[in-house]
Amino acid sequence: MARKQDVIVIGGGIIGASIAWHLTRGGATVRLVAEQVGGVATPTSFAWINASWGNPEPYYRLRTRSIEEWQRLAADVADLQLSECGGLCWDLPPNELRRFASEHRNWGYDIREVSAKEAATLEPAVKTLPDLAVHARHEAAAEPVAATRALIRSALAGGMELLEGVRIIGLEATEGRMTGVRTETAFLGADRIVVAGGADTARLAATLGITIPVEAPPGLIVHSKPVPKMLNGLVIATELHVRQTQEGRIIAGSDFGGTDPGSDPDGAAKDLFDKVRAFLKGGDALEMDFHTVGYRPTPIDGFPIVGEVAGVDGLYLAVTHSGITLAPAIGRFAADEILTGEKQPLFAPYRLSRFEG
Ligand SMILES: Cc1cc2nc3c(=O)[nH]c(=O)nc-3n(C[C@H](O)[C@H](O)[C@H](O)COP(=O)(O)OP(=O)(O)OC[C@H]3O[C@@H](n4cnc5c(N)ncnc54)[C@H](O)[C@@H]3O)c2cc1C
Repeated sequence: MARKQDVIVIGGGIIGASIAWHLTRGGATVRLVAEQVGGVATPTSFAWINASWGNPEPYYRLRTRSIEEWQRLAADVADLQLSECGGLCWDLPPNELRRFASEHRNWGYDIREVSAKEAATLEPAVKTLPDLAVHARHEAAAEPVAATRALIRSALAGGMELLEGVRIIGLEATEGRMTGVRTETAFLGADRIVVAGGADTARLAATLGITIPVEAPPGLIVHSKPVPKMLNGLVIATELHVRQTQEGRIIAGSDFGGTDPGSDPDGAAKDLFDKVRAFLKGGDALEMDFHTVGYRPTPIDGFPIVGEVAGVDGLYLAVTHSGITLAPAIGRFAADEILTGEKQPLFAPYRLSRFEG
């Protein structure tokens, strides 16, 4: 009989949680080690699940697959807090918006052009709507921390072990094989290690001399106090991306990834929130509750890094921006690759080896 795989997953954000959940479901013995359960970037995310404009087709395919995988997970994991709300988008000039809709429709995206009149029926609380917008029915949002915690709860019920509040200071390998990880107080042995440490993945990999080209640009998101329902779905307007959370908060960034708040984040948050108030009917009554400045783990070419590392048996990396969109697909395919050794074709463009040379 095949030996049960013993895997340590580093990272309790949405990526580590999803990989750990899928590995546990696949029959592995999993220890999830996380300094912060719920993640670091994950709680500061806008959490738009999409395969929207600006991406090459292979990346579009991975993203649309992950939207489907979100639906599968929602049927399987209690309290995932996924909202399949659709997205109304007009953050491109009309000719580019048309080109985007037509290209993505040809690729199979469920997207259509809508007039200002129809947009007003979709989002009646928005004060001024453009003559042309596009609506993507399958775009969604998740409450990222709730989803992460739901995955971890479900994996714990399936037998996973959680080491919470534990910081890994280094990865250890002997003769090209992983032997384990070192915390501040102990050595944890395992021959399979998944590093899903967000922006800290580069520092962890560097302890084995491996270079991971990742940046972490800052992004500002403002949150209102909860209010009764104002928005039906995601609104991706010019210079303002807005949605309402399941708790009723209106959250927004000048871009979904947030933008750099500069040297005065409080002032930038206030200015951004004023824009939100001006954008919505009844917006004057909105009160800002808090803002976040998150740091998006972003490989320097803008695409994920997933997979094994050549020359180090048993080491698997998963670091990406758009991690809310991609978590279900990355979790499923990473677990499959680790458990079966078979390579997932959708991951082919996203190996670390693309940066070699
Ligand atoms: C402002 C902003 C807006 C965004 N908007 C979107 C969006 O609309 N749609 C979308 O799809 N994505 C979005 N993203 C990106 C998305 O949020 C991230 O890609 C995702 O959250 C990354 O998750 P992660 O689990 O890899 O990392 P993180 O959430 O950062 O989690 C890292 C985990 O690793 C642990 N860890 C790290 N180092 C160690 C160590 N040494 N020892 C132990 N534990 C360690 C941490 O404690 C944490 O648990 C946005 C991000 C930001 C910042």
